[in-house]
Amino acid sequence: MSVSQLAREIKESPTLRLNEEARILRVKGEPVIHLGIGEPKNQAPITAILGSAAKLKSGDIKYTPTDGLPSLKKAIIRYMEEHYNKLVAPENIIVSTGAKQCLYNVLFSIINPQDEVLLLAPHWVSYPEMVKMVYGIPVIVTPEDGTFHPRMEDIKRVTTSYTKAIILNSPNNPSGLIFSDEFVEEIVDFCEGKGIYLITDDIYHKLVFDGKRTPIAYEYTDKDLENSKIIVVNGVSKLYGMTGFRLGWVVAPRKLIEVMINIQSQITSNVPVVSQAAAEGALTGVQSVVESLRLTIQNNRDVMMQELNAFNGIRVTKPEGTFYCLPDFRAYSDNSMELADFLLRKALVVTVPGMAFGMEGHLRLSYAGSVKDITEGIERIKWALDPESPNEIYIGDRKMVRDWL
Ligand code: PMP
Repeated sequence: MSVSQLAREIKESPTLRLNEEARILRVKGEPVIHLGIGEPKNQAPITAILGSAAKLKSGDIKYTPTDGLPSLKKAIIRYMEEHYNKLVAPENIIVSTGAKQCLYNVLFSIINPQDEVLLLAPHWVSYPEMVKMVYGIPVIVTPEDGTFHPRMEDIKRVTTSYTKAIILNSPNNPSGLIFSDEFVEEIVDFCEGKGIYLITDDIYHKLVFDGKRTPIAYEYTDKDLENSKIIVVNGVSKLYGMTGFRLGWVVAPRKLIEVMINIQSQITSNVPVVSQAAAEGALTGVQSVVESLRLTIQNNRDVMMQELNAFNGIRVTKPEGTFYCLPDFRAYSDNSMELADFLLRKALVVTVPGMAFGMEGHLRLSYAGSVKDITEGIERIKWALDPESPNEIYIGDRKMVRDWL
């Protein structure tokens, strides 16, 4: 079969592949525990359900303006005011199919062939592929001090005249780290000074723990929105656990939004109106749902840390946000792909190899599921890897005996 050279270079999303593998195993009746999961288990907020149901009931399911319903944009403007302390105009916003399409639209709008985009490892799996999909070059910047926190000196070292953008994701998928105020201040200053776009992927910005907050890039620029290089991406997927509605938004200078509208108008036109009504419902409804989701995930984080801290040889940085952590499994294997495969086969636990995030030797574990999944999942991993753990375990109703250590 003849496919394009570009298409051949694009890897499938490892997280979506793992979801599929887990689903197939579950259909076969296997008691799989999914610690790769990228969404919370909550129900969508009732105001979102009512909003979308009312739209459905009206029977008026048509195209909307490409950039989104004016009433939804109004709700986003209020969100920006409340959570970013930033006044934006409807012309600064485009609503797209999840933060994924937002990021793709942004990259499509700004990248020329061979332009470089700096990705700060550990980074979200989709960034490098998205950059390649617009003929750009992903440049992975790994902190040389062995931590998960990016450093300006590493960034400055790889910046060239081809550097067009930097993607910043705090709190970070997969490490769960919040970047420091000082770092964000420095990177904003650097980007504004050099004319490099700073794309802040803020999809987890409300999912932060222990009273912490993630720095807001706008706070560190004195440029107005139309002249700033800061581009904000956000959405309802993680904020309200509404991943299935597929709705995100970009806030950027008007001229850039106009370009994104042109692009989107030729690709997907607009986000389905039912999803837009749901997002509007969520954004304008009671916000206690966000706090209760946050508290559940924070509690899950604590359970995960307790389990991992009692795991021989595992080192883990305590996440300050998101629903992921990125423990170091090098005491057991340097090859995260092989390790994740092994854990799926032997222990029926889905994990995501750190390799996909630019951090070999690590596994990304999610605590978005239930407490039971977390405790049982880690117990199974321990059983599979740690010779000091009991060598018998029940997986579902099967008694398993470890015979490989
Ligand atoms: N950015 C990051 C860092 C993510 O983790 C995800 C989802 N896993 C997205 C963007 C995409 O979110 P959405 O579901 O809104 O497309």
